[in-house]
Amino acid sequence: MSEILIRNARTVLTMDDAETKLADVDILLRDGVIAEIGPRLETVGEVVDARHCVVTPGLVNTHHHLYQGLTKAVPGGQDALLFGWLQTLYPIWERFGPEEFYVSAQVGLAELALSGCTLSSDHLYLYPNGARLDDSIAAAEDLGVRFHATRGSMSIGVSKGGLPPDSLVEQESAILEDCIRVIDAFHDPSEGAMVRVGVAPCSPFSVSRELMRDSAILARDKGVMMHTHLAENDEDVAYSLEKFGCRPGQYAEDLGWTGPDVWHAHCVKLDGKEIDLFAATRTGVAHCPCSNCRLGSGIAPVRAMLDAGVNVGLGVDGSASNDMANLIGEARQAMLLQRVQNGADAMSARAALRVATRGGAEVLGRHDCGQVVIGMRADLALWDVSGLGSAGSWDPAALLLAGPQQVRHLFVEGRQVVRDGRIATIDIEAALRRHREMARTLAGFG
Ligand SMILES: [Zn+2]
Repeated sequence: MSEILIRNARTVLTMDDAETKLADVDILLRDGVIAEIGPRLETVGEVVDARHCVVTPGLVNTHHHLYQGLTKAVPGGQDALLFGWLQTLYPIWERFGPEEFYVSAQVGLAELALSGCTLSSDHLYLYPNGARLDDSIAAAEDLGVRFHATRGSMSIGVSKGGLPPDSLVEQESAILEDCIRVIDAFHDPSEGAMVRVGVAPCSPFSVSRELMRDSAILARDKGVMMHTHLAENDEDVAYSLEKFGCRPGQYAEDLGWTGPDVWHAHCVKLDGKEIDLFAATRTGVAHCPCSNCRLGSGIAPVRAMLDAGVNVGLGVDGSASNDMANLIGEARQAMLLQRVQNGADAMSARAALRVATRGGAEVLGRHDCGQVVIGMRADLALWDVSGLGSAGSWDPAALLLAGPQQVRHLFVEGRQVVRDGRIATIDIEAALRRHREMARTLAGFG
């Protein structure tokens, strides 16, 4: 039996159905689960002082491309729209191999953990030079965060009217075969799973209709979730109208890409009819506000989605288009953008934090995560509100207004991944050194 007692939490935002907020309570974590919540609990295990901390469920990242952490702020891609930005970066990503994918995942997930993330998905859709999904799964396991890897793919290269270079696309039969391999090797459907696998063709402009359809059939046969990019910007919608003769929502519906086992990244350009379709089919959305700002894609209609009953989570998106992967910062950005679009009462700090925690867990089908409630998995973020940023705040629990932007402690499945603001599970300095060397080599300085 393993236990940790979080002693005397100043405030706990439970994110339960009643939006309960607790003050001055202890939380006992036992064998990966939240075992007890109440005053003056006893433990045989370690005690963590939370006197100055606001406790929230761990944040959930529903969209990322971890490998892109090696190509942050690349000149030529800094100020481009989506398609031009991709065309700048494809030739660089082409040079990656297994170690690049492992180390970038390690560093990217550590960056996320410091910003409160306990569960991240990742969308890996290119596999040059012998790289495999296995590389990023190994990195997540070593760090100790919960991980939903998705086996992405691209099959339509430039010569067939797609966007990526031919050298980065794969044969569709090989893609489907490898999807089966990684699902069989890594997917854990059980409660408390640390690793799950999904199927994730990159986007309608880089795979065929047939691969979209076959991927959905395969995912449902295997009982795993499905993920892709959808309706990201005007160019994306124009491509859909021109090539497929319909809007992205219709395209998704026609090919089996709606339902509670599907979540789409971005959805900036969904119209009212598409929002209703997503609500009716319980299709999830990964909202990536910083990436949408960075690429000038627009403001996703998140207020309208939530009002219609769409499941919405947050995503930092790849670090080449964000370029920071700070998930609590992403939640603040989501709150601010809805206010820009719809007024100051469009999204409260608490509502945005709910999207970042429980909302994301629901999008990823994790009903065992996302709440500080007895019986839920012990995934918790502890935010020290005694520091500079929060000084003077009359409502420190409104974390998104006054910070902090990094956790003091982070627990995943009851295990401490961040301790006193530092990664506790791996040698992060060594990983960073290797990461720096790789980035310099890719940039031509190595
Ligand atoms: Zn993306």
